[in-house]
Amino acid sequence: MTLSKTERKIIENSIRDIQDFPKPGIVFKDITTLLNNKKAYGVLMNHLYQRYKEYNLDYIAGIDARGFIFGAALAQMLSIGFIPIRKKGKLPYTTFTEKYALEYGVDEIEVHIDAFSEIPNAKVLMIDDLIATGGTANAAAILINQTGAECVEACFIIGLNFLDGQKKLKEKTVVYSLIEVN
Ligand code: AMP
Repeated sequence: MTLSKTERKIIENSIRDIQDFPKPGIVFKDITTLLNNKKAYGVLMNHLYQRYKEYNLDYIAGIDARGFIFGAALAQMLSIGFIPIRKKGKLPYTTFTEKYALEYGVDEIEVHIDAFSEIPNAKVLMIDDLIATGGTANAAAILINQTGAECVEACFIIGLNFLDGQKKLKEKTVVYSLIEVN
């Protein structure tokens, strides 16, 4: 199930472009204007529910921090658990850690080692607001698989097609981006 033209327009029109944030040359896709627009937020969450209710998922894994907003809401709608994948140093229990490259330097994300352990071979949907270079999402897919769970799909509200992120991630899992930016 994919978005209808009307649904796509409602969501697309609710996302605000901020030029040169957080630094010159970057167009930041601001989803706060989607979240405070009850129609757009409703259309989005209803679409995600309709698509993923057929998947027999065991968990949603949301990426720090905007993936938490959509992921936690969707997990409740699907009556399944939610797992946060967090920036380094935020999770209190023992973690798996994965490094990934940034434009300058590296960053790390983590997941609790027992996050998915209640359900053997758990089927997991990864979710974030946006995929750019794909560094974060690739690291998240590695972490999910490291715990013994299976990342069956990665979902993004926005995919930046002019970067190679989605291509790389497609080697690991199915990628679904609602809005493609060329
Ligand atoms: P990447 O690892 O390069 O795919 O970056 C993805 C992460 O950075 C996501 O968690 C996004 O929320 C954030 N991000 C990267 N680029 C943008 C952008 N142009 N607008 C909004 N968020 C962005």
